[in-house]
Amino acid sequence: MADLRIVGRAVVDGRLIDEVTVEIDGERISSVNVGEVGSGPRLLLGKGQLLLPSATDLHVHLRDWNQAYKEDVFTGTSAAAAGGVTTVAEMPNTSPPIRSPEALRERLSLLAARAVVDYSVHVGALEKVEDAKRALELGACGMKLYPEDLERLEDYLKVSRESGMRLVVHAELEGDDEAKAVKMLLSRIRADDDIRFAHISRAESLRMIELAKEGLGARIKVEATPHHLLLSEEELDENSRRISAVRPPLASMADKQYIFSGLERCSVDFIASDHAPHTLEEKVSERRAPGFPGLEIMYPLMLTEWLEGRLKISTLLKKLCKAPAEYLGIPKGDIRKGFYADLVVFDTSVRWSISARDFLSKAKYTPFEGRKLSAKVVSVFRRGELVYNGCLLVKGGGMHVRELKHG
Ligand SMILES: [Zn+2]
Repeated sequence: MADLRIVGRAVVDGRLIDEVTVEIDGERISSVNVGEVGSGPRLLLGKGQLLLPSATDLHVHLRDWNQAYKEDVFTGTSAAAAGGVTTVAEMPNTSPPIRSPEALRERLSLLAARAVVDYSVHVGALEKVEDAKRALELGACGMKLYPEDLERLEDYLKVSRESGMRLVVHAELEGDDEAKAVKMLLSRIRADDDIRFAHISRAESLRMIELAKEGLGARIKVEATPHHLLLSEEELDENSRRISAVRPPLASMADKQYIFSGLERCSVDFIASDHAPHTLEEKVSERRAPGFPGLEIMYPLMLTEWLEGRLKISTLLKKLCKAPAEYLGIPKGDIRKGFYADLVVFDTSVRWSISARDFLSKAKYTPFEGRKLSAKVVSVFRRGELVYNGCLLVKGGGMHVRELKHG
């Protein structure tokens, strides 16, 4: 007898099935069957409810340390859980930054103590091959290069090639010029370099990457964010504009449409939130701090795109769940026997409006404020444990993805 059976409508292997029984034993899915089967404890999904794999977000900033007033590991990962995201990969531009094996080790122990969801960490630009190797041993999932690191791109490419550390690049040059940075990067990388472009936002950039992907092969990966997929500069109202500063900046309608179409063309590999909280004062001040929270609404926003007919469910689940889990090498991201029971129940029969006041993130604003959605997170399972059910049910328990094993 399984610990729990979830019975109802689900998407399995990219296909929507009206009645499925998903059995959970301990942390894992022990069977998936069409119709109702088995006996024992049962969670019967209501009408309009839908069971999906939970998401893996490859690009989040959980702040903490000197910036705990903006967000901390607990509040940031609580926001993840509330949004149906049960694995996150952190970016290294914390204060102080994660730019050494020692800083990485310290970060991992903070995450082990405070994270509600499973996690991985990117390190910042490392100058020594030895440091990169050490960071890999500790479990770093990649090395992130920021615009200011691009001047020394050749050095970091060398470190990456000699250590086997994957690169993630924020491609932008002075004057918010993404396409120029992408062009420069594409001219320097080789077919065997493993490089992921973070938050691609311009049609021109994606067109160049598409050509290079054909030429260079599959080791180039592309991330896109919900804000670049769904918002454009010209559509913002005054309220959203006040807090919409982000890097790269929101683009034109044509850019947005082209990036969105890249999801179905498969030139966009991952959807990632780039969750980047600041205080409201920092957002509206002269400096206009770039970024905003996104973990709680990414999945509902994108699922609404499917429910309203603009995206295939198989595409959506691939970019939000399956491909990012594969990138981290973890058995998650699908409803499949042997995979971790990382699952989310959505209510798809409601119509609700985003209200950032309700966010678990410390940052309670969003350029999506008031947007109407057709999908709401009801409950979330992390490795078989119910962690969110309208409110957060745990105080921690997140694990480093390196500890997660293939079953
Ligand atoms: Zn970022």
